[in-house]
Amino acid sequence: MQYDIVVRGGTVVDGSGLPRYQADVGITGGRIATIGKITGGANEVIDAEGHIVAPGFIDGHTHMDAQVFWDPLGTCSCWHGVTSVVMGNCGFSLAPCAEKDKLLVMRNLERAEDISPKAMEAGIKWSWANFAQYLDAVDRLPKGINYTAYVGHSALRTYVMGERAFDEAATSDELATMKRELRDAIKAGAAGFSTSRASAHQTPDSRPVASRLAKWDEVKELVGVMGELGAGVFEIAQEDVPTPDRLHDFLGRLKSLALETRVPTTFGVFYFRKMPHMWRAFYELVDDTVAAGGKMLVQGTSRWISTLLSFESTLPFDKAPVWSDIRKLPLAEQEAALRNPAMRAKLVEAARDFMTKRHNIVGAEARPPDFDYFFVLEKPLPPYRSVAQIARERGGDPLEVMLDLALEKHLKQFFIQPLVNEDQDIVLAMMRHPRSVVTFSDSGAHVSQIMDSSIQTHLLGHWVRERQALTLEQAIRKLTFDLASFWGLSGRGLLREGNYADVVVFDPATIAPQMPTLEYDLPAGARRLKQKAVGIKTTIVNGEVLLRDNEHSGALPGKLLRGPLAATA
Ligand SMILES: [Zn+2]
Repeated sequence: MQYDIVVRGGTVVDGSGLPRYQADVGITGGRIATIGKITGGANEVIDAEGHIVAPGFIDGHTHMDAQVFWDPLGTCSCWHGVTSVVMGNCGFSLAPCAEKDKLLVMRNLERAEDISPKAMEAGIKWSWANFAQYLDAVDRLPKGINYTAYVGHSALRTYVMGERAFDEAATSDELATMKRELRDAIKAGAAGFSTSRASAHQTPDSRPVASRLAKWDEVKELVGVMGELGAGVFEIAQEDVPTPDRLHDFLGRLKSLALETRVPTTFGVFYFRKMPHMWRAFYELVDDTVAAGGKMLVQGTSRWISTLLSFESTLPFDKAPVWSDIRKLPLAEQEAALRNPAMRAKLVEAARDFMTKRHNIVGAEARPPDFDYFFVLEKPLPPYRSVAQIARERGGDPLEVMLDLALEKHLKQFFIQPLVNEDQDIVLAMMRHPRSVVTFSDSGAHVSQIMDSSIQTHLLGHWVRERQALTLEQAIRKLTFDLASFWGLSGRGLLREGNYADVVVFDPATIAPQMPTLEYDLPAGARRLKQKAVGIKTTIVNGEVLLRDNEHSGALPGKLLRGPLAATA
């Protein structure tokens, strides 16, 4: 037999969690044809000696809805072994929405997800009103990886209610229209429905995004549409639950919704230092719901979720007096200002004063630092030293030391400011839970604030290789099969003969993220954080090599993955 590709001599970790084994993998016509000893010829042979051959990773939490229009490869996720992504999370999608109202929908994304409206305007050719038309538009685009998309509640609400979506409850007519649109979208192949009730999600003028105006009954009715159809996943960015009563109430509503509708339900769960036991309550909810016959999955991550701060991106005191002027200058002039003792003294004083005041900070915006939890990104993988620790070592003041550290790198030093998940032992406990996957990359969003497209390579480099806290088999399952099963991406996430040939070949001894950089390469010259990886030899999507040594091959084999009702239509 003649194959398109043979991956020869590698060690297969197939995604199921079963032990690894040596085998060649033969690929033909976009599918895995043979796993075993292969003697037949091939158009391309990939030497995988000493490498792991795994299913391409699946990322269930991205915001690539806009990016897919200008970045067919799906960076930065594709550089970390990801071959399929779910977009439209947290209620944010670009459809349904007619072109004339696009600014309203973009308003939902601009601050909550830090996606430049200028980049969206320059980079997106709007050709849809309803969700089915949006899916067709994505279908037509050249794509490197596979995409599937939720209908976002904020878009749906804005489509049906216009400006009122940002102020009011829906009337029964409006709710009926939303339900009809959602039904049509699921039938056309939407992955499901997503919403946000999180106060982190605000518009640029500090109002809640549209989905947050919905009564819980509206959410229930909409999720119920998927229950009736027997298709689609429900994703929710959680309500704020500052008290045990509110927590209990919210968990109760989530559980009954999942059990009444039988719709697979998923959300991120994080560790908050101020509420150290809350994460356990969510995991108990998931265990209870599953025990009662529901489907629920936690979207975890492999480390903290943090903002990456620097003079190139943002700093906690950018809006302080003196700083707000200096920060507009080119980097070299900012450096000169900081090296001028009189100017530096003014800046330090202004920063100190600013940090003692209260500010309206939402989502991943920089906040006044707690220097014990403000780390220096010195290398791609932990451990990291905090600024407070370095200040103690140097016998200096933390703020002054932070500025010194930045100056030592000509202001190109990144600092890690964790928003959640500071305690890495708890991160590990969450990852080890059987109903938890590693997926909360937020890829495509928070583009100048957060760079978590590297959580997959962080998992394999840090937790598997360096800490030996999870086996490779366990870790890969949490990046592949568990996700494919939950989202119903059949034929993916598992290396089996007959399945789609989404494959990643990597060196377990070296795989790791590289250092992030800040670049101005979005449409309209908007900026973003960028991070690549080392140790990934080949990434194959639908039977074609997408990346060799993490460089684009030129092929664009990615597809739109439609939900089950579209497939049978
Ligand atoms: Zn999100």
